[in-house]
Amino acid sequence: MNSEGIKRVARDLGFDACGIARVSSIDSEAAQRYATWLHDGKNGCMQWAANHQDIRNNPELLLEGARSVIVVAMNYYPQVFQPQEAPQLAYYAYGRDYHEVIKQRLWKLGEAIEQETGCKSRACVDSAPLRERYWAQQAGVGFIGLNNQLIIPGRGSFFFLGVLITTLELEPDEPCLDHCLECHACEQACPSGALRCGQTVDARRCLSCLTIEHRGELPEWVAGVIGNRVYGCDECQKCCPHNRHATGNVTPELQPRRELLELTLDGILQMTQEQFSRIFAHSAVKRVKLAGLQRNARQVLQSTSCQTSTAQNRETK
Ligand code: SF4
Ligand code: SF4
Repeated sequence: MNSEGIKRVARDLGFDACGIARVSSIDSEAAQRYATWLHDGKNGCMQWAANHQDIRNNPELLLEGARSVIVVAMNYYPQVFQPQEAPQLAYYAYGRDYHEVIKQRLWKLGEAIEQETGCKSRACVDSAPLRERYWAQQAGVGFIGLNNQLIIPGRGSFFFLGVLITTLELEPDEPCLDHCLECHACEQACPSGALRCGQTVDARRCLSCLTIEHRGELPEWVAGVIGNRVYGCDECQKCCPHNRHATGNVTPELQPRRELLELTLDGILQMTQEQFSRIFAHSAVKRVKLAGLQRNARQVLQSTSCQTSTAQNRETK
């Protein structure tokens, strides 16, 4: 099976893009940038980001004899949206958990490679210490914007990434040399100033990290910027001109359930464990557990009450 064959199978499996890079250590500039980000503590509560630096810098350590890195991308931009006044979930969490959706397809790609060539593969979807976006750029799939997202030229950034590392030697693609417009709209749109540093996110201030990864109570300042986001944040993507032509995905598993579109703040605050388990059984939202979702909802409530009392004070002056 050659590179063209791999891409044909990837397309048949429902991936929107596929590129191939040769396995190597990552370049020293990218490694240094990551090390500086860690050194500055910008990984915040994502302690796991500091683990296994040797593997993160060299994917060959993930699979003995690895020769190629196959990167796939799948559109998750929704066709239908939550009402604007509803407690907002990040778009990526609308459908079935992307770990399941992408991994199952990558396993099929790996099986196809093994059947035809006998070569081994390892599927990684946010599940291994691997620089997915770096490899997506190396494999020609897209470039990394100032918002730290992988942007596919002409298609935008609302894409899941998956990586299949394989022992099969494949013809690599050219790295993507496009770059973002550097309009800084993402920095300006970020509600919490997490992107002030440019192409690195300060996770200590990022609402996506805080509402999903942070355990325990949220810092008090979050109530002032959380708006109605109860799970994640898409602001630095929604405002990006590269997403102007994003189109709704057609993957059946990624379509939102009615219960999710009808979520209300009261509904979350009064949700039982049984309801949570039913609604989010196969959703990425289960990562925060019921306690985390309700903690975020309380912050949203607090933020709403702050705004209401400020508005009332203004009216009485
Ligand atoms: S909003 Fe502008 S600066 Fe930010 S990633 Fe998009 S193009 Fe780049
Ligand atoms: S996800 Fe939200 S909070 Fe995080 S960097 Fe982007 S805009 Fe800022």
